[in-house]
Amino acid sequence: MAHRAEIETHLAELLAVDRFKDYGPNGLQVEGRAQVQRVVSGVTASLALIEAAIEARADVLLVHHGLFWRGQDGRITGWMRQRVARLLAHDISLFAYHLPLDAHPALGNNAQLGLRLGLSADARFGEQDLGFIGSAASAMLLPDFASQVQQALGRAPLVLPGDGRPLRRLAWCTGGAQGHFEAAIAAGADAFVTGEVSEPQAHLARETGVAFLACGHHATERYGAPALGAHLAAHFEIQHQFIDIDNPA
Ligand SMILES: [Zn+2]
Repeated sequence: MAHRAEIETHLAELLAVDRFKDYGPNGLQVEGRAQVQRVVSGVTASLALIEAAIEARADVLLVHHGLFWRGQDGRITGWMRQRVARLLAHDISLFAYHLPLDAHPALGNNAQLGLRLGLSADARFGEQDLGFIGSAASAMLLPDFASQVQQALGRAPLVLPGDGRPLRRLAWCTGGAQGHFEAAIAAGADAFVTGEVSEPQAHLARETGVAFLACGHHATERYGAPALGAHLAAHFEIQHQFIDIDNPA
């Protein structure tokens, strides 16, 4: 059994929460019961995940995408009311860690995605050092790397080919990090892996010769939360279960 406040303090320190400028509050977003025996982790605090956490009799729901973001008008109505009401009715605490969970060198989304893709970073790049970059074990061609990614993530990436060069330096940043493509190019990447793609990246790939792979926001960000949940389970001797709510986007 752990106390909710101990978990919050531990995670704030572990993830260096204060070091990040983020789009929403990191840490406890909805306060539930004080005693914690069971943690459920997941990617996004959607109603489906909240219902699954209730079913699993969770005391804490630990996610990457919480409920509150800059730009919302702050009203607890409609879908927001549903989500908050279900958490409060079941006295479940919601903990959310956005950029601090992307960035953590071992448990974060980027580090954990790297493990799945057989990549390890020797440097960081871009805004708040969120981007990871490292050398391939041996130079690969893009089609081989793309099929390796497909095998690891269970879905085909959208591939914007570069100039066909052998891939030696690979950069990655999970989720909606298409805006980091230029920083990845400047850091010396031969290919960049992220979750989402927008229109400008197709032109940049053609014009710079650096390949771009959009592998799914959810698909690239589903490894940090379970790693963090497993860490909590070991550290506090409590139970943990990751629940994946499928998302094609
Ligand atoms: Zn995300």
